[in-house]
Amino acid sequence: MELPFSESYKIKVVETIRKSTRQEREQWIKEAGYNLFNLKSDQVFIDLLTDSGTGAMSDRQWAELMKGDESYAGASSYYKLKAAIKDILGFEYFLPTHQGRAAENVLFSTLIKEGHKIPGNAHFDTTKGHIEFRKATAVDCTIDEAYVVEQEHPFKGNLDLNKLEKVLKENGAENVPMIIVTLTCNTSGGQPVSLKNMREVRALADTYGVKIVYDSARFAENAYFIKLREEGYGDRSIREIVSEMFSYADAMTMSSKKDAIVNMGGFIAMKDKELFKAATTYNIMFEGFITYGGMSGRDMNALAQGLYEGTEFEYLQTRIKQVEYLGAKLDEYGIRYQRPVGGHAIFVDALQILPNVPREQFPAQTLGVELYLEAGIRGVEIGTLLADRDPVTRENRYPELEFLRLAIPRRVYTNNHMDVVAAALKNVFDRKDTITSGYKIIYEAPIMRHFTVELEKV
Ligand SMILES: *Cc1c(COP(=O)(O)O)cnc(C)c1O
Repeated sequence: MELPFSESYKIKVVETIRKSTRQEREQWIKEAGYNLFNLKSDQVFIDLLTDSGTGAMSDRQWAELMKGDESYAGASSYYKLKAAIKDILGFEYFLPTHQGRAAENVLFSTLIKEGHKIPGNAHFDTTKGHIEFRKATAVDCTIDEAYVVEQEHPFKGNLDLNKLEKVLKENGAENVPMIIVTLTCNTSGGQPVSLKNMREVRALADTYGVKIVYDSARFAENAYFIKLREEGYGDRSIREIVSEMFSYADAMTMSSKKDAIVNMGGFIAMKDKELFKAATTYNIMFEGFITYGGMSGRDMNALAQGLYEGTEFEYLQTRIKQVEYLGAKLDEYGIRYQRPVGGHAIFVDALQILPNVPREQFPAQTLGVELYLEAGIRGVEIGTLLADRDPVTRENRYPELEFLRLAIPRRVYTNNHMDVVAAALKNVFDRKDTITSGYKIIYEAPIMRHFTVELEKV
């Protein structure tokens, strides 16, 4: 018989996790203001809040920590990371930062001014936050198919070239400092962008003389999908695909906590020396000197190693097959989610599971609380709370979809854990008729409210 698929690693160290009672969880989530971010981690059994910085480092990455060079300037760890970035991503210049949003802060300080328009494919929340903080506007140019949950499309992260060209034409290069292509597109469900689309965006950017920046947190997962789904790339290695992807970008920001499988870290990389010089000033001001920028030497070492491991086919296959495994379980239970399954997460359609909770009472957040109460599983709302208020009118922005995102940390949980997640969701789904109300806001911050919002049962 054909041998079944199995993981491309074995386990060397384990960490105990603890189950709790429903009664305990009811108390804890109330104390947390019904905000899952406010829970203590030991109040959570299976933590799918995020795949960011929550992955398991390998024995080789831990070994790299020991070899870290903590010199203030010119550390070997910096040069090791610089070489890995050149080798895998092809960029000549780079600046370390403490994480992805810091990379955005530095690069955007260099390039974005008040009134600018920044087109892209459904900008990530911190990216949008950094744009709006500078009184510029993020314009979503994702293809319409991305917003049809049930529709199978191999590259739901793609940019709609007509939407993009309209922004470029109406505003001109002087008001559009960059196009941001997010790989994979988190906000639309961890969906990939095709190489064809990247090439077309490059051509359009060249016509108008606009820079392209890749928001690259999950670039390797994006490359995996290209290998599997895009015609002509089946025989290419992940590294070859990655190399072509980045050949169409002028610069990139990276949250290394995702596809580089480290707990903390980020960087900016670019081809242009002048841009590097301009960004350096801000990096020194906000992050640290050029050769460490908010990272310790050991962490730069582990990151360099993580870039190599994160772009190995067997690793990526193990990872994405686990996400698909959870998706297949949900199919079995008739639970709807953004199709096809994304690279790092399943985006569950909260409007299907809780059809009786009004939009203004945050159905996806309500589902997140219910799933926590059911089995101590923590997901995160990707819906109206996250979409925040319109910066001008201050009205709630209602996105087309309300998702509960279940993000899978890298190399952390087994498929038995995925079985528990699927069963718990099914139990919530089974009692949907009894869940008819959600939550109202009692405190919110003026920007990126979802992190600190406090809620009350309606
Ligand atoms: C995580 C992420 C960021 C922000 O990075 P942090 O390391 O969390 O600061 C930016 N863009 C995308 C696409 C991300 O996934």
